Amino acid sequence: MANIILLGPPAAGKGTQAKRLVDSRGMVQLSTGDMLREAKTSGTEMGKRVAAVMDRGELVTDEIVIGLIEEKLEQGAAGGFIFDGFPRTLKQADALADLLAKKGLGLDAVIELVVDDAALVGRVAKRAEEARAAGQPVRKDDTPEVLEERLRAYYKNTAALVGYYWAKKDLRQIDGMADMDTVSAAIANILDKA
Ligand code: AMP
Repeated sequence: MANIILLGPPAAGKGTQAKRLVDSRGMVQLSTGDMLREAKTSGTEMGKRVAAVMDRGELVTDEIVIGLIEEKLEQGAAGGFIFDGFPRTLKQADALADLLAKKGLGLDAVIELVVDDAALVGRVAKRAEEARAAGQPVRKDDTPEVLEERLRAYYKNTAALVGYYWAKKDLRQIDGMADMDTVSAAIANILDKA
């Protein structure tokens, strides 16, 4: 049982790797992006409130995402939690530490997918193209303009978490530009030692 954070800019591959861990290890993926998109689609009050912020590629408030995570932590996860796209600010990181501590849990590793920004633009274009080809809805924030804003939000608010977790000796950095199987193997290697 391990609780991990997948850290990295948008389109670094966090969601793909999280889904693989769900299948291979029975871990539970907690993606605040997925939860917010679900709230948006189902038209809840909160969903309506965050829709415009998300479409612009900005961050929703800490209170909202911390509340979402708190709710999910209540349900427990025998195989461990994968935090995907959370935390994204120092306040969220502190809140997560508190929430886990209250449950007698901790973090086993924070895995940073290190990627090349220029390549992310190509990845996002590909993700949108693949969704279109499969007849699936294309994420509204998967456009070059919004990606730029999402990257800005990452460097302004989230990149500081690399130093934060390094100082806590939780940080593990892996090459997110490698092919998916190589990235999965690198994550498996960390989990097997956790
Ligand atoms: P993602 O699917 O992780 O790329 O998230 C999509 C969008 O949801 C982000 O661009 C933000 O607007 C919002 N979001 C997701 N997670 C968070 C978070 N932890 N803090 C603030 N905003 C978030």
